[in-house]
Amino acid sequence: MSLYNDAESVLISKEQIAQKVKELAKTLTEEYKDKNPLLICILKGSFIFFADLIREMNIPVEIEFMAISSYGTASTSSGEVKVVKDTDKSLENRHVIIIEDIIDTGLTLSYLKNMLARRAPASIKICALLDKPDRREIEIEADYLGFKIPNHFVIGYGLDYAQKYRNMPDVCILKKSVYS
Ligand code: 5GP
Repeated sequence: MSLYNDAESVLISKEQIAQKVKELAKTLTEEYKDKNPLLICILKGSFIFFADLIREMNIPVEIEFMAISSYGTASTSSGEVKVVKDTDKSLENRHVIIIEDIIDTGLTLSYLKNMLARRAPASIKICALLDKPDRREIEIEADYLGFKIPNHFVIGYGLDYAQKYRNMPDVCILKKSVYS
């Protein structure tokens, strides 16, 4: 069975992603020069984006990992998240950048940002690869964004469906028949 069997089509190619990651990293390099930023990778979906992004940043950075899970079902999302793995380091007085794969309703990221903001960082910003603005339920925007996309369920480049397809190099639209 091919990796791409359940993909309807490629939405964003690996070449387009690589180009965008370079642009984002260039912006971050300029804005965070001399700030020793602390980049937080939100597991698992962001791990490939994170690894590519930090290798394109031409300044010293420190990294942390967080794993979170949402309470409730997809249809009754409260946005309240449970921290499954927290950061090891303190965020106090640090310039923090949250690295997220995709913003959908915005509930998860909004909750997470508020939670981390209470830890007294010097600044806190969001860098997201993808954004589905049509689905937003709460006001939150990425400070640094890769691509705005239409309302499709996407897989690949770290993003999963039922824990699969994270290793696809492109971002693809999942076939509806797979989940309906
Ligand atoms: P939100 O709280 O913004 O609705 O949820 C964001 C999270 O939902 C993302 O971090 C991601 O884990 C998941 N998610 C939202 N849309 C998609 C999608 O199209 N594909 C995948 N694989 N995950 C998604």
